[in-house]
Amino acid sequence: MNYKNFPMVPRVIFGRGSFNQLGEIITPKRLNMQAPFIFLVDDVFRGNSWLTSRIPLSYEDNIIYISALEEPKTSQIDELTEQIILNNKERPSGIIGIGGGTILDIAKAVSIMLTNEGESSDYQGWDLVRNPAIYHVGIPTISGTGAEVSRTTVLTGPDMKLGINSDFTPFDQVILDPELTKDVPKDQWFYTGMDCFIHCIESLNGTYLNAFSQSYGEKALDLCKEIFYTNKLSKKDSQDKLMMASWHGGMSIAYSQVGVAHALSYGLSYLLGTKHGIGNCIVFQHLEEFYPEGVKMFNAMKSKHKVEVPFGVCANLEDHHLNTMIDVAISLDPLWENALGKDWRKIISREKLMQLYKKM
Ligand code: NAD
Ligand code: ZN
Repeated sequence: MNYKNFPMVPRVIFGRGSFNQLGEIITPKRLNMQAPFIFLVDDVFRGNSWLTSRIPLSYEDNIIYISALEEPKTSQIDELTEQIILNNKERPSGIIGIGGGTILDIAKAVSIMLTNEGESSDYQGWDLVRNPAIYHVGIPTISGTGAEVSRTTVLTGPDMKLGINSDFTPFDQVILDPELTKDVPKDQWFYTGMDCFIHCIESLNGTYLNAFSQSYGEKALDLCKEIFYTNKLSKKDSQDKLMMASWHGGMSIAYSQVGVAHALSYGLSYLLGTKHGIGNCIVFQHLEEFYPEGVKMFNAMKSKHKVEVPFGVCANLEDHHLNTMIDVAISLDPLWENALGKDWRKIISREKLMQLYKKM
């Protein structure tokens, strides 16, 4: 057995208001006056002085606002990297991503592409990145994806939605300030929170499960239950705990894998552009046969919070569209193997996936 030797986020600060310490944290990392820090900030914060007035800008530092309405694309990463190279005299001192999974993934990918030649699609896959990324900091403003701890940055490329999985992908520093999540709209809170819940269910019910993943997965699942199911927490406690649930959920899948929901949701996202959180929810409600307990609890939480999850998104698709989604989903071997074991192809066929997609 050859065990994987994983890098982890080496520094993390946790606490309400810890965002105020961003300046003192990054200052020692400045290479020189010409090498700026570039802040990649979710467009939703444009004009929000509560947040932006606390971004410590000096010398040539600058903010680039980025929309999170669409998930990151390889072409977008390449353009952004190009823009940063052209607009600055020197290679930046660091990239700081402030936002949800979308912006965090963009920050990771750009920091890799600033030191690696070619196009970001060249690096989609496992361990293809050669040079260390530049210093990069992740500051989540919505909790659930685990992107703040993970070793991947998920990009939609010309052929595939696939992560850049590498030892250079994880952040050098993460700032966990739960207060930054205070204005997340309720539906989005639920969708992204359910990404965490689904990470736990897929990890804990997977064949790759081991004590490392289980310990993180169980903790994250307990927290999710407290937040979404028991539902007795104050707003602040709920924000604090969801931020830690996201972290633990991400750690849990680091040493295992996700499963059926993610495989199918990647297909939806590739064809329809369905975003990750809501896509997982659309898929998950039809997976009783794989995750009976999890789906039951999901439905209970959905009713409790009166959140709508769309139905019928595949109703009007033609067969060639469905086939494209099936191509994407079925190619994710490790996810299926984790979910169903080495013989997963005996259980999962293209017809089976067609039936599942048609229910959505
Ligand atoms: P997101 O980043 O796409 O944001 C969702 C919405 O919430 C956006 O409209 C955004 O503007 C808004 N938002 C974010 N913070 C807010 C705040 N504080 N106040 C108000 N609105 C706010 O959502 P997400 O679910 O965190 O991320 C999804 C992305 O994460 C996908 O691209 C997915 O592929 C990626 N992902 C990555 C990993 C990983 O390990 N790298 C894991 C899971 C998902
Ligand atoms: Zn996910």
